Amino acid sequence: MKNIIFIAPPAAGKGTVSEYLVKHFGYEHLSTGDLLRDEIKSGSELGNQINDLITKGSLVSDELITRLVNERLRSIVGKPFILDGFPRTLSQAKSLDEMLINYNVTNNIVIYLDIEENQALKRVLGRVTCPKCKRTYNLNNINLRPKEDNVCDDCHILLEKRSDDNEETFRVRFNTYLENTKAIIDYYENKGLLSKINVSDDLDILLKEILSKIKEAKND
Ligand code: AMP
Repeated sequence: MKNIIFIAPPAAGKGTVSEYLVKHFGYEHLSTGDLLRDEIKSGSELGNQINDLITKGSLVSDELITRLVNERLRSIVGKPFILDGFPRTLSQAKSLDEMLINYNVTNNIVIYLDIEENQALKRVLGRVTCPKCKRTYNLNNINLRPKEDNVCDDCHILLEKRSDDNEETFRVRFNTYLENTKAIIDYYENKGLLSKINVSDDLDILLKEILSKIKEAKND
């Protein structure tokens, strides 16, 4: 299977699609948001600094996130993986190239999930996550609601809302995304690695499109 690098705004469905690919195709899922939230939960000084940035909707530094991704990537190379949330800047994309060369990783596809701002906002406002297994649910989508109100179907514990999933922070995050993304898209387009998908609210359609993009992509 190809390694997948997702470029997408908040709430485009990267997490939900990743869960499916992990379950059905044995992918490793490297979510930078999850890595950062784990650091926050550890209660470290670094975690507190990260929390301030995430709550405001700002990005953490390229240096920090690149170091965290490098450490995690080292432990999963050899298995197919999904990068969810990295790269988010051109500088991160260039660092990623270096890492992939270092680890001798080829066979990658970059999938750009495009979604309207208001469609993404609606998802953000309904999103809740299991703090244990990290499964994401959406109260605004009948197919993605938990069976029991606010409880994880698998772990049977209370679901949580992310501190940055409110309208104000979402608008900041979306604008930051727009500012940084054009350069990344151009970068991967020039390398011939980019596949674009307009995100459907129907998860089955989205999954089908992603699987067909993976199938038809050439080896890099
Ligand atoms: P996510 O779970 O991917 O929506 O990420 C949540 C937040 O973590 C983002 O809004 C950023 O503050 C931070 N973050 C995640 N990935 C990165 C990254 N690659 N570079 C900088 N900040 C990031």
